[in-house]
Amino acid sequence: MSKSPLYTVLLIEDDAGDALLIEEILEQQECLARLVTAERLAEGMSCLQHINCDAVLLDMNLPDSSGLSTMTRLIDFAPGIPIIILTGDSDESFAIEAVKLGAQDYLVKGSIDGKILKRSIFYAVERKKLELALKQTRDLFERQARIDYLTGVYNRLMLNELLEAEQQRARRSGADLSLVMYDLDHFKKINDSYGHTVGDHVLKEVAQLASNNVRAHDILARWGGEEFVVLVPNSDLNQAILLAEKLCCLCRSYDFGNGLQVTASFGVTQFRADDNTESFTVRADEALYLAKRNGRNRVESI
Ligand SMILES: [Mg+2]
Repeated sequence: MSKSPLYTVLLIEDDAGDALLIEEILEQQECLARLVTAERLAEGMSCLQHINCDAVLLDMNLPDSSGLSTMTRLIDFAPGIPIIILTGDSDESFAIEAVKLGAQDYLVKGSIDGKILKRSIFYAVERKKLELALKQTRDLFERQARIDYLTGVYNRLMLNELLEAEQQRARRSGADLSLVMYDLDHFKKINDSYGHTVGDHVLKEVAQLASNNVRAHDILARWGGEEFVVLVPNSDLNQAILLAEKLCCLCRSYDFGNGLQVTASFGVTQFRADDNTESFTVRADEALYLAKRNGRNRVESI
């Protein structure tokens, strides 16, 4: 009984002799790979769309593409696929460049034998898997560094970055920018009376409620504890007050479970040309303080 092929390998090679040679070498390796062939880069890309390939053997000089750009075009097209460069003796330095740009390995055409090819494919596939897994982990860490673990909205670190960017944009373009800062009323009582699990649930629901009711380009973040902010681009003070009133009303009338009611106090302010992050956020905080002092469950602005 013949063994089923371990990998599907796409060979993109315009030289029929070279292609045949690779094919023969692979055949001798007890069907390590099923080979799919293409003579042009475009044809190879089309194969990748239709066939689930594990690796690509790539000749960089093809009728429709030549040099390093053959490799970079392919990697841009299919970033997840391991590429092994096939090269002649004379252009080995190109192949090394290609590896630096993201190819997994290169093979010099004149000196390919079965063992080398088999090992190169195996390592290319495995190394690419590792590379992708590492990238996923890195993306996850990067995400975690910017997202509040409890509520899933941006954390303060991310907000500070976005605040800087939005203030610069507002300064440059003269567009309006406003800030809504809000804080749940008597939140400590909720934790004390119902426990932290219920407290956490309320925070999550409040974040969700806001997230469902701001515009796509508004920026919602947890400022800390039971305090949230919404950075509202292209909105003047009155528009931001309307948004705050809406969120205040939604919060007040929302059932947080078993009839639990929670209200929040809101402070709103609009960006001024001479503001910096500190003066902008301090003013929102002062407005919020005003809302607390004036009886909570309300919106105040400065
Ligand atoms: Mg060629």
